Amino acid sequence: MKVFDAFADEYGPEKVVFIYEPRCGLKAVVVIDNTAAGPAIGGIRMARDVSTEEVFRLARAMTWKNALAGLRHGGGKAGILADPHTPNKETLIRQFAQAIENLQGYIPGPDMGTDETAMGWVRDEIGRSVGLSKVLGGIPLDQVGATGFGIAICGEVAQEFSELDLEGARVCVQGYGNVGQHAARFLAERGAILTVASDLDGTLYDPDGIDIARLTEAKRETGKVTVYEGGQKLDRDAFIDLDCDIFVPAARPDVIDETNAGHLKCKVILQGANIPVTPKAERILHDRGILSVPDFVANAGGVICASVEYSGGTQKQAFETIEEKVRENTREILELAKSHTQMPREAALTLGMQRVSEAMQYRRGS
Ligand code: NAD
Repeated sequence: MKVFDAFADEYGPEKVVFIYEPRCGLKAVVVIDNTAAGPAIGGIRMARDVSTEEVFRLARAMTWKNALAGLRHGGGKAGILADPHTPNKETLIRQFAQAIENLQGYIPGPDMGTDETAMGWVRDEIGRSVGLSKVLGGIPLDQVGATGFGIAICGEVAQEFSELDLEGARVCVQGYGNVGQHAARFLAERGAILTVASDLDGTLYDPDGIDIARLTEAKRETGKVTVYEGGQKLDRDAFIDLDCDIFVPAARPDVIDETNAGHLKCKVILQGANIPVTPKAERILHDRGILSVPDFVANAGGVICASVEYSGGTQKQAFETIEEKVRENTREILELAKSHTQMPREAALTLGMQRVSEAMQYRRGS
C-alpha cells in the first residue's frame, strides 16, 4: 500500500478506515492521524474527485493545525466520494455517520461539500459532530465566517512582517465560497478592497473594487461569481496573472505549484484552503520575497470555533479565542521564521511537531 510508504511516520496515521456501502453507493475513507492531544477533529469532504491521498494529507494538516492552536484535539479527516449536489446526499451522510459510530477518536465537522445541515444529520445518527446550526446548540462556523475572520487577523499580523498595508490593499480570492467570502468581508472591514474573485465557473475582476455584499448575494442565488453586474469576466484560472497585494487561495489543494508560482503577483498569501500550495511552490514564493502564511496557521479559525462549540462555548467566546490564538500563533511563527531565515511553513512545522511530540510523551509506552 504505497500511500503508507508515502505518508506514515512517527506521528501517524493511527487509523485508516475505508467504508463501502453498495446499496446506497457510499464510498468513503476516514483517516485519524494523531490523537495524542485528544479525539481528532476534522471535516468531512464530499467531492467527486476526493482521493485517499488527499485525505491522508488533510488529516496531517489537521494534526499540525490543532496542535498549533493549542486545542485538546488531534487531527483527522474524512472523504466521501460523491457529488455534493447529489439528491442522495442525506442518505450518504447518514450511512457514513452510522459507519463511524464506533470510531470514537474522530469527531466530524464540515468541509467542502458538507455544512451544518450535514452535521445535523450526523449528530442525529450518532450524537457526535461539530459545526452545528444554532438550534442544535452549535456555532454555524461557515455562516458566521470563523475561518475568514481568522484569515483577516492573520492579515493584520502579516503587516508587521512584510510591506503589506491593509488600508487599500487589493485582495484576490480564489474560490469565493464560505471561507473566501468571509475572508473578503473581514479584510474589507480592515480597509482592504476585493478586486478579484473566482470560482469553478470563472473569474471576476474589477480593479476599482467589487461590492462584496452584492457579489455574495449573487453567488448565493446562482452559485456563480460571474453573474455579478460589473467588472470583467475572465477564465477560471485567470487570477494567476492579475496584480494584487493579498492572495487568498480558498478552494482546492495544490492550486499553486512550481508551474505557476512564478506568475503570482502579490505581497502576501493567506492560505484559506488546506494545502493550496505545493512544497516546491512555497520555496519559489519565498525566494521571490512573497510572505506565505501556511494553511494550518491561517485557516485555524474554523476548527478553533468547532472546539469552542464542542466544549459548550458561545459564538462570542469563539471569536475571542480565534482572535487570540491566530494572532499569537501567526506572530510566533513569523518571528521564528524571520530569526531562523526559514520559510513560515518550516517554522510552523517545527513548532507543530514539537507540540505533538510533547503530547505524545504522555502516551503509554512512550
Ligand atoms: P466551499 O465549497 O464553500 O467553497 C469553495 C469555492 O471554491 C466554491 O465557490 C467553488 O466554486 C470554488 N472552487 C472549487 N474549485 C475551484 C477552482 N479550481 N478554481 C476556482 N474556484 C474553485 O468550501 P469552503 O468551506 O469555503 O472551503 C474552501 C477551502 O478552505 C477548502 O480547502 C477547505 O478545506 C478549507 N477550509 C475550510 C474551512 C471552513 O471553515 N469552511 C476551514 C479551514 C479550511
